[in-house]
Amino acid sequence: MTGHRKILLVAYPGQGLINPSLRLANRLLKIGISITFSTSFRVMQTINKQTTPHGLAFAPFSDGHDDYVIGKPPPTTLQQHISDFATNGAPAVAKIITSAAAKGEPFDHLVYTTIIPWAARVANAHNIKSTLFWCQSASVLLFYYHYFNGFQELISAYQNNPVLPIKLPGLPPLTMSDLPSFFLPSSPKEHEFLLPLYKDHVDVLKSKNSPRILLNSFNELEVDSIKEVKGFDFLPIGPLNEKDSYGSILEEDYVIVNWLNTKPKKSVVYVSFGSISHLTSDQGEEIASGLLEGGRPFLWVIRNGEEVEKLRKIDELKKLGLIVSWCCQVEVLSHEAIGCFVMHCGWNSTVEAVAAGVPIVAYPQWTDQTTNGKMIEDVWKVGVRVRREGDGVVEGKEIERCVKMVMGDEEISRNVLKWKELASEAVKNGGSSSLNLQAFLDDA
Ligand code: UDP
Repeated sequence: MTGHRKILLVAYPGQGLINPSLRLANRLLKIGISITFSTSFRVMQTINKQTTPHGLAFAPFSDGHDDYVIGKPPPTTLQQHISDFATNGAPAVAKIITSAAAKGEPFDHLVYTTIIPWAARVANAHNIKSTLFWCQSASVLLFYYHYFNGFQELISAYQNNPVLPIKLPGLPPLTMSDLPSFFLPSSPKEHEFLLPLYKDHVDVLKSKNSPRILLNSFNELEVDSIKEVKGFDFLPIGPLNEKDSYGSILEEDYVIVNWLNTKPKKSVVYVSFGSISHLTSDQGEEIASGLLEGGRPFLWVIRNGEEVEKLRKIDELKKLGLIVSWCCQVEVLSHEAIGCFVMHCGWNSTVEAVAAGVPIVAYPQWTDQTTNGKMIEDVWKVGVRVRREGDGVVEGKEIERCVKMVMGDEEISRNVLKWKELASEAVKNGGSSSLNLQAFLDDA
């Protein structure tokens, strides 16, 4: 029995890392594991403790940015924040570990998210095992693994041949535009620091004997990638798609569900670009014109209220759809009125859409989203990617074309249903993700 186990779960304070981490914590708690959840003070204050499961312990620390709120413009650059989180987090996490040991209640394992490879070193220094909870796809991790292990030159050479397929073991043929955005010539300079960070993740993993990696994915979805890397033990335990206890504004959720209840089945276009991406006003106007042209009811998440009021045809838009600053996405996606999801292809949103059986219009912005868009369109075939000329803005009529296509395409409807069923099987008793979670605990 696993009741005596005590795991420290450390998460970088981004929505796309906090959400799956809390869901993982919930799942572990339900099977009797003792979990202490640790992230920055500021983010911890915004977690609704009323709705987190009984028994979840919290060990927050200051990352030097106690005014930082997810979804609001950060008080510093992302690079500075990640660096400050590491500088403050490493000694803080060490202290959490030693204090627990001093009280006679030591942790036997540390689980850490993407962005904070240093946490594995802290665990190592205190002689406790650690496991990476990689919050992107297995395919993207496999891509980084190849890039940093022998394929860097080959991939760099492709920059001159952007349309040629790059064939890497375990991955579908990719072209330059399918790679994570950092490899594209258009990637801004301020994102350059992220590649060494991903290299550090891969290096930390390689320094271990058969490292295990928890993933918000499921075997069936990424089976080829998952089998590929010899010595890496991929343990997909998803989809992690429980209704959130974090980040949701409850009154707004009621308004949204009531509004969705008035709409016919599969009629509503849901539009959201996650918690980080900001659309330019041109992109916003084109999406607005695509939605108006299509004439379908829509639910559009625009986090910044000022951007809403600036939309040229705001009165017309308000007649046709509902614009909100946030929603409980998992609940929205499972509503029968939702017909498709126009989205940025963040990994959590991708998995949530696949698990809910909602067709996707993929409009990737940066990082792994470009690769996720490729998988959505060409591998799982549950949606289409918007086409754009060069790095230009996607036109409204292109968005409308894609919405119309995914809402009417029979092959996509069949695939969407197939993946929804496989996702649901994976987390049932005896399903692949349940077995993987148990395998992690048996050997943690
Ligand atoms: N999300 C939400 N409501 C919203 C927008 C996003 O609950 O209005 C959640 C979404 O369900 C997902 C997370 O925020 O769990 C976003 O993570 P993702 O990896 O998709 O994108 P990121 O925000 O990291 O770019």
